[in-house]
Amino acid sequence: MTRADAERSKRTAEVAAESRAATVTQAYRFALKPTPAQERALRSHAGAARFAWNWGLAKCQQRYEAEGAWYSAMDLHKLWNAEKKADPALAWWSENSKCAYQEAFRDLDRALRDFGKFKRGERKGPRLGFPRFKKRGKCRDSFRFAARPMRCAGKSVTLPRLGTIATHESTRKLARRLGNGTARILSATVSRTAQRWFVSFTCEIDRAIPERHARHGSAIGVDLGVKTLLTGVDDQGNTITIDGPKALQSSLRRLRRASRAHSRKQPGSGNRRKHAARLARIHARVANVRNDALHKATTDLARRYGTVVAEDLNVAGMTRNRRLARAISDQGFGRARRMLGYKTGWNGGILIVADRWYPSSKTCSGCGTVKAKLPPSERTYRCWHCGTVIDRDANAARNLLKLAASGAESENACGGTVRPRSARQDPVKQEPGTRTRTRPGPSQGNTGLRMSARALKRNG
Ligand SMILES: [Zn+2]
Repeated sequence: MTRADAERSKRTAEVAAESRAATVTQAYRFALKPTPAQERALRSHAGAARFAWNWGLAKCQQRYEAEGAWYSAMDLHKLWNAEKKADPALAWWSENSKCAYQEAFRDLDRALRDFGKFKRGERKGPRLGFPRFKKRGKCRDSFRFAARPMRCAGKSVTLPRLGTIATHESTRKLARRLGNGTARILSATVSRTAQRWFVSFTCEIDRAIPERHARHGSAIGVDLGVKTLLTGVDDQGNTITIDGPKALQSSLRRLRRASRAHSRKQPGSGNRRKHAARLARIHARVANVRNDALHKATTDLARRYGTVVAEDLNVAGMTRNRRLARAISDQGFGRARRMLGYKTGWNGGILIVADRWYPSSKTCSGCGTVKAKLPPSERTYRCWHCGTVIDRDANAARNLLKLAASGAESENACGGTVRPRSARQDPVKQEPGTRTRTRPGPSQGNTGLRMSARALKRNG
């Protein structure tokens, strides 16, 4: 055993001693490499799931119009079992796993219950209508298994009815956990994105979560940007910038060209279909490259810093972009925040989310003066009050970092809910492992840091 190994095992032992076991739900997703016969079976299952959804929806719609009620997943399952045997036109049902139908009924059940909740005013969020029918080519090809066998080994996965399908990557990360009993597969969802099939195993994972972050007390403020993927300033004063990968830029160029070409093709033609497939492939690649970069960056941050402070969403950044860039960055920001949320949790750290009205960009990180206006094109922050000149994103990151310091103080001083000075209560968003910081009241517009704080209880 080398010295490095010895140290590492000692460190692992220390962490293990101070950690607690937690069960988290986590997905493992693998790209499939099916044989032509298997691919036909995948399409058939996706078709079966779509058929079951539409079949069940038609039944529910009829009943809803007549009685104002619908069928539960269980009812639908029973109805289906009776009808599939009685109707010779449905004889093909046995070509697919019964899970494909069952899980589609469950999805429908959930969609209907959500609709019901919305109607009764028990559900927040955007308007929710009665579920709609799915159309081949318009909806996402997807189906789910919730029965054995669901396994993975080496470069393959085993699913009910479909058997063993090769994967592009090794499945060892999940296989190892299944082997030592720290993971249990709850369900497997198979879906298609741009001509490629994926399986996503939803698993229950036993994770050892450290009670304290390995670098307890360290903090970083993070500004998610469009130009640079991420700009951070840590408590040591280091500025960290992570540029978007170059592959992203070139993919985006190709995407623009492909979507122009696609829009010029005759609707309904074979040529249009061909270009649609190409466009979808580039879209998928852009999403993959961005996701990969986000995963790497957020894993790194969560490991290195005990407290990460990020903005809710870069609204200013999103409005200054054209539609294409906006859609992509929009998705990226939400994702990055979610990743930071669970990854900081896994490492024993916390994520503090600044309220979206917190003027992190407009506030001077030197003296706290808030500018009334800061055009998005201005990449450098110049303070007319104290003379600070600093990169725009770094300035925002420094302001966010200050929230970490004030957050730690208020938590230690009062231990829990703190609402200093401001009687006003702002809408806060609550997420697992996340604390939210709200904006300053209108009378405190110039102080920047004196803000109402609400330390939400950490979850898991
Ligand atoms: Zn200043």
